Amino acid sequence: MNKIPYKTYLTEEEMPKAWYNLRADMKTKPAPLLNPGTHQPMKAEELSPVFCDELIKQELDNDTAYFPIPKEVYEFYKMYRPSPLVRAYCLEKALGTPAKIYYKFEGNNTSGSHKLNSASAQAYYAKKQGLKGVTTETGAGQWGTALSMACSYFDLDCKVYMVKVSYEQKPFRREVMRTYGATVTPSPSETTQIGKKILEEHPGTTGSLGCAISEAVEVAVSTPGYRYVLGSVLNQVLLHQSIIGLETEAALKKIGEKPDIIIGCAGGGSNLGGLIAPFMRDKILGKADYRIVAVEPASCPSFTRGKFAYDFADTGKVCPLAKMYTLGSNFIPAPNHAGGLRYHGMSTVLSQLYHDGYMEAVAVPQTEVFEAAEKFARIEGILPAPESSHAIKVAIDEALKCKETGEEKTIVFGLTGTGYFDLVAYEKFHDKKMDDYIPTDEDLAKSLADLPKID
Ligand SMILES: *Cc1c(COP(=O)(O)O)cnc(C)c1O
Repeated sequence: MNKIPYKTYLTEEEMPKAWYNLRADMKTKPAPLLNPGTHQPMKAEELSPVFCDELIKQELDNDTAYFPIPKEVYEFYKMYRPSPLVRAYCLEKALGTPAKIYYKFEGNNTSGSHKLNSASAQAYYAKKQGLKGVTTETGAGQWGTALSMACSYFDLDCKVYMVKVSYEQKPFRREVMRTYGATVTPSPSETTQIGKKILEEHPGTTGSLGCAISEAVEVAVSTPGYRYVLGSVLNQVLLHQSIIGLETEAALKKIGEKPDIIIGCAGGGSNLGGLIAPFMRDKILGKADYRIVAVEPASCPSFTRGKFAYDFADTGKVCPLAKMYTLGSNFIPAPNHAGGLRYHGMSTVLSQLYHDGYMEAVAVPQTEVFEAAEKFARIEGILPAPESSHAIKVAIDEALKCKETGEEKTIVFGLTGTGYFDLVAYEKFHDKKMDDYIPTDEDLAKSLADLPKID
C-alpha cells in the first residue's frame, strides 16, 4: 500500500494560475455594500478615492469565476508557496482516532500567516496603478507585517496605524514592520482629525481596530497618491485567499483523498473563505457534500450570537455598510488573545452562505483553545497562532468524536499561522492567568441596538 506522505507539496508548475471567485457560483449573492449616507449600493466611482481601481473591480464582481494571478504576484507567491498539506499522523496517533487529519499550513513565511497572499496582490495592484503608497490598520500586527513585506517588495510606501495597546505590547511585530520600511503609528494618534477627536473624548484610550481603520482611511483619502487596503472581510481578500483552497484541492486530488469535514477559524472570514472556496463550489453545485465549520472565539461570536443585518464596518462609521453577521460596530470584545479574531463583523460571502445553511459555526472559549494549541505544539512540532488554534481545537474535537463512533472521517483544517509573536498569551495560559470572557446577552443587546436602520 502506498502510504500518504507526511507532507504533500504541489510543484511550482502545479500551483493554481488563477484565483477562484466563489460569488460567481453562489445561488444567493452576498448583499451589496451600501453608501453609509444614502443607503444606496456603492458604485465603483464612490469607492475609488479609498481603494485601488483593480481591487474595486474584484470587489464588485459577482460573476467572473476566475481571475488570472498576475505574473508579478505569482513570482512573489513562489518564494513561499505552494504551502504544504500536512497529514497529522502524530496527532492522529496521540488521539487514538481512526480519523485522518490534514492541515494546510500557511505559516511558512516571515510574516507568519496567510495574510501575505492578499497583501502581495493588493500591493501589486496599487503599484500598477502608479500609486505612491498605501495605508492600513493593524490590530495584533499580522496584517501590518504582511503588508510591509509586500510593499517593500513592490517598492511602495506603507503607513500602518497600529492599535495602541498592541503597539506597546507587541514591539517585535512593530520592528519587523519597520525593518520592511513601513511607518508605524500608534492609534489613536494626533496625525488625523478623527484620531485627535477620539483622544479628546477618551484621553488615555488604548485604541481599537475600528478607530485605527478610520484613521487609515482618512490618511488615504487626504494624501495624494495613496489608497487604503484591508486584510480581511472584503470580497477581494477572499478572492486572493482562494489560493489556499485551490492548492488544498489539488493536493488532496494528488493523494486520492476527499475530505468529509473542513474546518477553519473565522475572524473576518478570509482564510476560511479561501480554504473552502472550491469545496463550497462543489457543494453549491451539488457535486459533492462536505461539512464546513467556522470556528470563532466565544468572546467575539459573530456567527453564533450575532445578527444578520447591515452594519458599519468601522467605529468612525465612514466605511460602506455591509450585510453580515455582526455584533454591532460598537461591540468591544474582551481582551481575547486571538487578536485576528476580534472583529465585530464577518465577510458578506460567508455570512450569506451561513445564512443559507451551507456551513456551520461553533464558538470556543480561549483556555480550551490554548490547551489544544499546546497539545498541537508538543505533538506536531509547530507552535500555532492563537487564531489558528481555534481550528485545531475543533479538529481535535471532531477526531475524538470519530474515536467514539469508529468512523474513519477525513478532516481538513486551516493552520493559518505561527505563534512566535503571541508568547505573552502563551505565558498567561501557562501561568493560569487566562480568563474566558463571554459576553452576556445584555452586552450583545446593547451593541446590537445601535445597528443602522435599513429598509
Ligand atoms: C488575521 C488572522 C486570522 C483571521 O483572519 P481571517 O480573515 O478570518 O482569516 C486567522 N489566523 C491568523 C494567523 C491571522 O493572522
